[in-house]
Amino acid sequence: MTQNQTITVIRGDGIGPEIMDAALYVLDAMKLGLQYEEADAGMAALEKHGELLPAATMDSIRRNRVALKSPLTTPVGEGFSSINVELRKRFDLYANVRPAKSFPNTKSRFPSGVDLITVRENTEGAYIGEGQMTSEDGQIATLTQKVTRKGSERIVRYAFDLARSTGRKKVTVVHKANILKSTSGLFLKVAREVAAQYPEIQCNEMIVDNCCMQLVMKPEQFDIIVTTNLFGDIISDLCAGLVGGLGLAPGANIGADAAIFEAVHGSAPDIAGKGIANPCALLLAVGQMLDHLGKPDEAARLRHAIVATLEAKDSLTPDLGGEGNTMSFAKAIAGRL
Ligand code: NAD
Repeated sequence: MTQNQTITVIRGDGIGPEIMDAALYVLDAMKLGLQYEEADAGMAALEKHGELLPAATMDSIRRNRVALKSPLTTPVGEGFSSINVELRKRFDLYANVRPAKSFPNTKSRFPSGVDLITVRENTEGAYIGEGQMTSEDGQIATLTQKVTRKGSERIVRYAFDLARSTGRKKVTVVHKANILKSTSGLFLKVAREVAAQYPEIQCNEMIVDNCCMQLVMKPEQFDIIVTTNLFGDIISDLCAGLVGGLGLAPGANIGADAAIFEAVHGSAPDIAGKGIANPCALLLAVGQMLDHLGKPDEAARLRHAIVATLEAKDSLTPDLGGEGNTMSFAKAIAGRL
């Protein structure tokens, strides 16, 4: 992290501004000297600037290379199918990195034992297009998938480098090469080649359907999972469910030139404006951002404060069974830094 590092801050829609206030309150309490540059996207941008993703926001992310983003509401029937997908495309954010960790005092099936990271390829696979109806009567639809050597190599390398830099010991390559012989087959072939360059890290392979069953039955066996776009989308939500749901699930979208850190959940219109949204997911994304900025000790400090606050059941938000609110929760975390 450079001195006076500036990050782009997107407050977003719905509960977005509330959880961003909470996250910045905690970040300020850490006294890291970070500067914030506010930029608009989503409904907030549409109302202010007449477009969902203004050029000034793109410029800000391009300049600062790091953004902290609250959830955005994508209005039905406007421009992009998803602003988040658009951001991933425009900045070539090829790695979607989603940690899932057991936390105390959450409504989780696994209150301990889970500590894994899903690394999902974010730009290829089944999500390169929306598919087509291939018969005029609307009875047949097809979808093209694209997997490339380059795309596979960079995501698998990302996963192994992440294992190396965080002291993790195992990478599980998740695929369906037994059936999808060309696409998943290429991904697996490249993964094996990359894995051979990291002899100190155990690599195993698992077919995606078995992986889902294993995750539900014995999630503690996983460390880092690397997989293609569609499988990663599903598996990462499954993992969020293992450890207590969306209020605790952060995500990072990482490319060579920019990285965007966010909560996995949406703008939660049902509770927006009530001040009761759980800020943890965005705060855990702040932790990922600090790791990315080369501040792993600060990231660990933040995570410890979050865990200690959950352990003490201090000011937790209603989704966690507490009677606190977004800001009281954030203050309780800041007080434990
Ligand atoms: P959602 O994640 O917003 O809400 C699902 C449920 O979880 C709701 O009951 C909500 O109250 C609850 N919830 C979500 N976050 C919470 C938090 N931090 N604390 C407490 N409870 C929380 O999903 P949705 O309702 O399907 O989507 C609403 C909008 O968000 C849609 O416009 C969607 O497109 C958008 N969305 C954006 C992102 C993003 O920007 N990354 C991700 C998903 C959905």
